[in-house]
Amino acid sequence: MPDPNGFLRYNRRLPARRPVPVRITDWREVYPAAGAELIREQATRCMDCGIPFCHEGCPLGNRIPDWNDLVRTGDWDAAVDSLHATNNFPEFTGRLCPAPCEAACVLGIGGGQPVTIKQVEVEIADAAVARGGLRPRPVAAPTGRSVAVVGSGPAGLAAAQQLARAGHAVTVYERDDALGGLLRYGIPDFKLEKRHIDRRLAQLAAEGVQFRTGVNVGVDVTAEELRARHDAVLLACGALQGRDTPETPGRELRGVHQAMSHLVAANRVVAAAGDGRPALAVLPDGTPIDATGKHVVIIGGGDTAADCLGVAHRQGAAGVHQLDLYPEPPETRDAARDPWPTWPWVLRNYPAHEEGGARVFAVAVQEFVDDGTGQVKGVRIAEVTVEKRDGRRIVTPLPGSERELPADLVLLAIGFEGTEVQPLLAQFGVARNARGAVDARPDWQTDADADGVFVAGDMHRGASLIVWAIAEGRAAAAAIHSYLDGVGTLPAPVDPARQPLAAR
Ligand SMILES: Cc1cc2nc3c(=O)[nH]c(=O)nc-3n(C[C@H](O)[C@H](O)[C@H](O)COP(=O)(O)OP(=O)(O)OC[C@H]3O[C@@H](n4cnc5c(N)ncnc54)[C@H](O)[C@@H]3O)c2cc1C
Ligand code: SF4
Repeated sequence: MPDPNGFLRYNRRLPARRPVPVRITDWREVYPAAGAELIREQATRCMDCGIPFCHEGCPLGNRIPDWNDLVRTGDWDAAVDSLHATNNFPEFTGRLCPAPCEAACVLGIGGGQPVTIKQVEVEIADAAVARGGLRPRPVAAPTGRSVAVVGSGPAGLAAAQQLARAGHAVTVYERDDALGGLLRYGIPDFKLEKRHIDRRLAQLAAEGVQFRTGVNVGVDVTAEELRARHDAVLLACGALQGRDTPETPGRELRGVHQAMSHLVAANRVVAAAGDGRPALAVLPDGTPIDATGKHVVIIGGGDTAADCLGVAHRQGAAGVHQLDLYPEPPETRDAARDPWPTWPWVLRNYPAHEEGGARVFAVAVQEFVDDGTGQVKGVRIAEVTVEKRDGRRIVTPLPGSERELPADLVLLAIGFEGTEVQPLLAQFGVARNARGAVDARPDWQTDADADGVFVAGDMHRGASLIVWAIAEGRAAAAAIHSYLDGVGTLPAPVDPARQPLAAR
């Protein structure tokens, strides 16, 4: 029985972030641990609602009121088990998820203060490590069937763990030199220190998952070879085709880059430095892409843009502007537009925004300005209005509103256009749809030339969230288990058609 008055006695509180002047001198995570007392207090605010709308917000179906109450009563071991029953990697989602569960929490109705679900989650996940580590789970007797997982992001790893625990022989193929997908070299350490990935990978390896890094499927091994080696294949290759702006004058100038080029280069030097000071970030061909001493302009308003902002400040940028096409969102939910419990359009201040830089809303780049040597020296912007007509986005510049911002480094963080065009697709006979994603049938199989080729994560959904990647990985694993005539069923939290909560 939960505490019926908890939310009346306690306000929503989060642990203080590390001070800005300290944290921008290193790459460590922004949040310190909250401490058991604060977390117990916050978990006490949960009302254990008869209809827990937080469940509806979470594609994993996390048993949120259950583990809130277990934390309240101090039964941390049971809380750890309850959390792991629905989520393979709560240390990732607890740190990184934007928490649609909190947007759907009943305590948030009418502008109230939702339970700090995500903070409780990460504390339980870290308690699992502190209370004896991530021990391997028992694995079922070998089934004699084998599965190839292509891609080691959260979708591929969640599927691999589920299938290995069910007794199948699982091999994960990853073209990069390290495992983790976007969590490894896309997301900076100040959001997710890589020890969390390494710890989880050790658990998967101990449960029997085999890893092959540096293997680009479609190039180093063909689809045909993979099919011959394995009884089923799961494609979990992500949605890494960055959107570009080739029509903008000056796009070809030196210093104008895709945001992911900047993030990957920066995260690689941090990984290589260990505890030492990272070297300047460079592209694989040696071209510098470091923000040190530079005026940086980041184009885009999402996660990727905020990550570039945090990296630019840690690299010692002279100044940063972050440009957004859309007007500044409201501070609080507009109930007419986004009624509770849907995900609201509100101003999201990431920790990186506390660290400096100027956000400029409702502007569009008209030109990248040449310094006369082929290097960018500025960005000419105009104020704009944006409207949707017949499903198309119409951007209209305001006459006379143009101005120039200084820029030595410009980073395009304007979204992704689905999964990359790469040889693997043609070899499996898999097509990209109009969104650049790969369609799945209700049983998670693709329309590949042969049976037994499944898809999950961003490759299926388009650029999305870690929580959706894990949910799809678990569901695809359940479908593969059934395809291989495995005993019993595995949990399938979502089907391929499932969408986030939305007002109809
Ligand atoms: C900069 C950035 C920040 C983000 N921040 C957040 C956040 O804070 N919170 C959040 O919830 N989500 C965030 N996201 C989104 C989240 O990272 C993705 O939704 C998630 O990683 C998708 O998981 P996935 O397993 O489908 O694919 P990915 O993580 O993209 O992994 C796909 C893997 O497949 C590999 N691969 C591709 N082709 C082949 C091949 N032919 N052979 C072998 N391997 C191959 C790739 O190298 C990659 O490692 C962020 C995304 C970006 C870009
Ligand atoms: S909706 Fe909020 S208060 Fe209700 S059970 Fe979920 S977390 Fe607890």
